[in-house]
Amino acid sequence: MSAKIIDGKRIAEEILENIKAQVDEMRTKPVLAIINASEDPASEIYIKAKIKACEKTGIGCEVIIFDSNCTQKEVVKKIKELNNNEKISGIIVQLPLWKHLDEEEILNTVLPKKDADGLTDINLGRLFGNKKGIVPATPHAILKAIEDVEVSGKNAVVVGRSKLVGKPLAHLLLQKDFTVTVCHSKTENLGEFTKNADLLVSAVGKKDLITKSMAKSGAVVIDVGISRFGNKIYGDVSKDVCEIASYITAVPGGIGPITVACLLESVVEYTK
Ligand code: NAP
Repeated sequence: MSAKIIDGKRIAEEILENIKAQVDEMRTKPVLAIINASEDPASEIYIKAKIKACEKTGIGCEVIIFDSNCTQKEVVKKIKELNNNEKISGIIVQLPLWKHLDEEEILNTVLPKKDADGLTDINLGRLFGNKKGIVPATPHAILKAIEDVEVSGKNAVVVGRSKLVGKPLAHLLLQKDFTVTVCHSKTENLGEFTKNADLLVSAVGKKDLITKSMAKSGAVVIDVGISRFGNKIYGDVSKDVCEIASYITAVPGGIGPITVACLLESVVEYTK
């Protein structure tokens, strides 16, 4: 068996076309503000992708850069200004931040109704309380990726337990009646868990963490991880997993583009 590839670019294009159609109808166009307070090379790539997607859909985009001399107060003050600026519909704090900044305080300064990433305590609380609201973009993208894919059973294993991906995803899968196991860096015998997964999601950032012997035949495999060696980008899942999986996402071109599209969906939602 050779796995079918879940085409993230195509799914993202469809979402972006739909967003563009909505934005075309809007008198006041949404504007996304992105705070970049780091010199993380991956962040630069993500921000470029977000700017490009904004251009495609007619959403305005403003990037605010803070250098390594910035203070916590300055960043918080800027976010408060954006909160009060009627022209700004959504705000993203691009992670990671400079090490001296307090991520929790900065994320929670964003007004929940402008929190495009869904990472404020209030929006995460709504998610964990099963209330309707904005869902973090990457878990949302993973749900979109599996929307039209048949998963042969209800055992889901999520590798990674971050606030950005693993935890919200586990909750969303529970809402969809999966039996969910969450693994992390302290999990012993990771393969014993992943081998039971009808749906296996890896969100770690370690090349070849998941090998063929760790996956179940026929599993749907979603590779969220990103690691870089030189100019090349890798996921967490080794190539040989394609031999036994039923469906798999590519890296790059898998969850990444869908995540950007889902983020813009949130921005449009906040503008309505
Ligand atoms: P993170 O906050 O660093 O979390 C990584 C998670 O992986 C942690 O829960 C960690 O466990 C776990 N982990 C580390 N080593 C492990 C191991 N050997 N076995 C099992 N689990 C292990 O990262 P994140 O923000 O969730 O992102 C995860 C990955 O997805 C990164 O590569 C990131 O670049 C990528 N990402 C991609 C997209 C996209 O759009 N494609 C979006 C977001 C993130 P502990 O909790 O025990 O430390």
